[in-house]
Amino acid sequence: MNEPQTHPLRPSDGSVIETRYWHTLDDGRVQCDVCPRACKLRDGQRGLCFVRGAEEGQIKLFTYGRSSGFCVDPIEKKPLNHFLPGTSVLSFGTAGCNLACKFCFPADTLVATTYGMRRIADLFADCEERFFTDHGTIGVPGSLAVWTREAVQARVAKVFVHRYAGDLLSLKPAGCPAIPLTPNHRVFAAHLSNTNEIRLVEAQKLSADHYLVIPKNHAIPSERTDWRDGGAHFLVPLRSSDRMSYEGDVYNLEVDDPDHSYLAPCIAVSNCQNWDMSKSREMDTLADSASPEDLAQAANRLGCASVAFTYNDPVVFMEYAIDTAQACCEVGVRSVAVTAGYMCAEPRAEFYRHMDAANVDLKGFTERFYYKVCGGELGSVLETLEYLKRETKVWFEITTLLIPGENDSDAELDQMSQWIADKLGPDVPLHFTAFHPDWKMLDKPPTPPATLTRARNIALANGLHFVYTGNVHDREGGSTYCAVCGTRVIERDWYQLGDWKLTGSGTCKNCGNQIPGVFAGAPGHWGARRMGVRLARR
Ligand code: SF4
Repeated sequence: MNEPQTHPLRPSDGSVIETRYWHTLDDGRVQCDVCPRACKLRDGQRGLCFVRGAEEGQIKLFTYGRSSGFCVDPIEKKPLNHFLPGTSVLSFGTAGCNLACKFCFPADTLVATTYGMRRIADLFADCEERFFTDHGTIGVPGSLAVWTREAVQARVAKVFVHRYAGDLLSLKPAGCPAIPLTPNHRVFAAHLSNTNEIRLVEAQKLSADHYLVIPKNHAIPSERTDWRDGGAHFLVPLRSSDRMSYEGDVYNLEVDDPDHSYLAPCIAVSNCQNWDMSKSREMDTLADSASPEDLAQAANRLGCASVAFTYNDPVVFMEYAIDTAQACCEVGVRSVAVTAGYMCAEPRAEFYRHMDAANVDLKGFTERFYYKVCGGELGSVLETLEYLKRETKVWFEITTLLIPGENDSDAELDQMSQWIADKLGPDVPLHFTAFHPDWKMLDKPPTPPATLTRARNIALANGLHFVYTGNVHDREGGSTYCAVCGTRVIERDWYQLGDWKLTGSGTCKNCGNQIPGVFAGAPGHWGARRMGVRLARR
């Protein structure tokens, strides 16, 4: 592997900056070296995080200074129970590409692959690697190729799915099966007034004056009396366009081809526009924007003791997070990373030099579950946890979301808590939080409170001193107890603090034992409130 190359970080263009953890591959692509996903990209492609991508033969961050929104939260919501308890934190993440946009097909849509016609949902189902995002799931196919509108083969880089509720259009081209698609999905079409000019047109803007495009060698044998010969393709008149309402999963493909097209089943349609760099940039710039200095000033003005990089993993926007942490440090505001802990060693060392605290999401304790939920590797996350303990002064706590039947067996919880006790010591707080089904796992019930309590008891039995239940009202499981005398030193109900039996430096008032963590005088009194904040748009 080549050494990562070093480049200046702050060119004049505000939200797009050059980065330094990447290297060039022999085939001309560039590989991002920030996280173990190791995205290998050609110019114009985004990585799986959406916020980094390749441009001018290097990896750039496209969301510097762009945020998906700001909120003042209790620090307990991150969750951090031993870091300046009771104080407020200014939370934000960066904008990324929004997979919830609606350029998609329903599950049964047929796509012309090099192995024949396949349902688009099956193309997704066959993906071995999957990545969950806030807006949808991305599948990475092993080897899949489709036919483009130029009748050439193109590799499918990604298949994605997201939940959709709204209108679908059913386009009926002459002599072809109907194609259901979301109204703003773009298809290749020519207008009656100039059939030589083929353009991308949103499905909802098509009329009976439009012709759709079928490459000649993909034309289905049917009645073609109204078709026009366009050279390498046929032009097929659009007979009708019917609107219907729909709720369910919708799919699209990223095709690794300059034409960004594929055939569904024989009509030329556009690649998902999420993957088009110019469109993504447009989305990025719609988000709130704030310089690191703006954020530090805002946190200070709002009385927040810290800022939290959250909502999406700050690892992927590390340059912005680091600059913000530095600006915050100058005004006495601390920095918190809420992260999945999935990061390569060199950028990780740089990143955590600037963080005061972190909450690391330990999703489970089997490689199988890690692979299933995020396409990642448990080993990398454990390495980050050990690194934090061994080589940094960052205060960190661990969170595990318990999903019934997936990662909540006694054996797995036992193994996980034993590992934490052995490798990280008994004083690292562990939070078991309740799962509430969303679109990603609608087949799973919510986590029963008894499961959280069972998990907590297993971890306590393995010697961990600070084990919490989260996302539920549970005064016992949410409170902090002195590991020496058992006094309840911080009473907590969800995010609300109650009785406080600590000195200003965090020692137990009953026995004088030091409670591990970061304590600075009296507890904060932010309470359980959440407050949305709007920063000025630039
Ligand atoms: S940060 Fe990770 S996901 Fe994003 S481009 Fe780099 S390697 Fe890919």
